[in-house]
Amino acid sequence: MSAQAPIAPSVQDRLKGLIREVPDFPKPGINFYDITTLLKDKQGFRETIDSLGAHYAGAAVDVVVGIEARGYFFAPAMARALGAGFVPVRKPKKLPHTVRSIDYELEYGTDQLEVHVDAIEPGQNVLIIDDVLATGGTASAVARLVRLLDGSIVGLGFVIELTFLNGRQKLADYDVFSLLQY
Ligand code: AMP
Repeated sequence: MSAQAPIAPSVQDRLKGLIREVPDFPKPGINFYDITTLLKDKQGFRETIDSLGAHYAGAAVDVVVGIEARGYFFAPAMARALGAGFVPVRKPKKLPHTVRSIDYELEYGTDQLEVHVDAIEPGQNVLIIDDVLATGGTASAVARLVRLLDGSIVGLGFVIELTFLNGRQKLADYDVFSLLQY
């Protein structure tokens, strides 16, 4: 895998131009990065998947794990690009078969994520994908969940990284790659 940021600045600028920033959503003080405007752009969506995928060229990835809900917009396309399977990590009580669960801290209280116990075979190479790396709480919980199933984490990939929140610090054991930094 190559180091962070092989992506051309012109591509980054184009993709950033397709992302809508919505101030004060869902609550005052949050600048929300709306990627629906990127997803609907045929060239932008392709460039996003191609550029993220280029970072993992040559890496043996068995499954791409997507984090509910916005991770699902990118993870299956990444799985297709890398010739891997797709595994959804879901909010509680959505998966029908036996699950492993993980609790994680939110700003106020805790939340939980779940995966089917048989979704990842021990030793499989797993890439975790989400839309935004903010505080890193969600992604580090998913990494712990993958480790509970004895998956081997190839890396964590994000379309957007909010660098001022230092989410990477929670993921220091792993290769963390983001396409666009704010
Ligand atoms: P965190 O656990 O703090 O890293 O938050 C990551 C999750 O929250 C991601 O799945 C994002 O979808 C969402 N998220 C956090 N902050 C933002 C933001 N400013 N704009 C859009 N999505 C966000």
